[in-house]
Amino acid sequence: MLNGKIALVTGAGRGIGREIALELAKNGAFVIVNYNGSREHAEEVVKTITENGGEAVPFQCNVADFSETSAMIQEVIQKYGHLDILVNNAGITKDNLIMKMSEEEFDRVLETNLKGTFNTIRHASRQMVKQKSGKMINIASVSGVLGNAGQANYAASKAGVIGLTKTMARELAARGINVNAVAPGFINTEMTQVLSDAVKEQAVSQIPFRRFGEAKEVAKVVSFLASDAASYITGQVICVDGGMAM
Ligand code: NAP
Repeated sequence: MLNGKIALVTGAGRGIGREIALELAKNGAFVIVNYNGSREHAEEVVKTITENGGEAVPFQCNVADFSETSAMIQEVIQKYGHLDILVNNAGITKDNLIMKMSEEEFDRVLETNLKGTFNTIRHASRQMVKQKSGKMINIASVSGVLGNAGQANYAASKAGVIGLTKTMARELAARGINVNAVAPGFINTEMTQVLSDAVKEQAVSQIPFRRFGEAKEVAKVVSFLASDAASYITGQVICVDGGMAM
């Protein structure tokens, strides 16, 4: 399905990004497993992919840094000749109520989640325009769709990712590039492990399926959007959230 495709997945050493990398590789893509601090995790993902007959390499880069991101994309293009799939998955939370939220908490989350997504798109789009093809998938969140108390920074960053996605979809459609967002609800990863039992129970009560999702359930949707089966879909926000946002 994705044979011969070069895919870059940001933040792919852990959590949802890890499952996306495994799924894309299972479907035949050569995967660049980006990480920032988790080198051992990224190497484990690459090892798992290659042991299963796939192809992948780890790549360290802080996506919040404009010039580092530029260098990563340039190196990928130089080494592999093209870039077909870009998955912007890297993301962080720094939750706090607005009256307690520090400037640093706001800035850090916006820099990684929103500016990080801008950075990779900014540098990858030139190559995809040249190729006249490409698939970009940005991982947003239901927080960016519905808002979420205690997550002013995070919800703003993810709403920004949705606006960026729709704008990129409009700018790049004529060049044969699809740009979509996937908005997960509560997914079992390290990001949600830190939530208290009370918060988890409250969250589950708002999910029609009455459970958290699994990273694999997000990865399947990303893999579909990365494939030619999704050739006529662009500018969409697909919620993978057990029915939370509808
Ligand atoms: P996670 O387990 O905490 O993993 C976060 C990933 O982002 C890690 O691989 C991390 O890499 C990477 N990352 C963070 N800052 C980075 C940077 N500056 N440069 C490159 N990579 C960076 O989180 P997750 O739950 O898998 O979340 C993945 C994405 O899904 C995020 O965008 C998140 O906002 C979104 N999401 C998650 C949920 C959920 O319930 N889990 C719900 C909605 C949306 P290092 O470890 O190498 O730093």
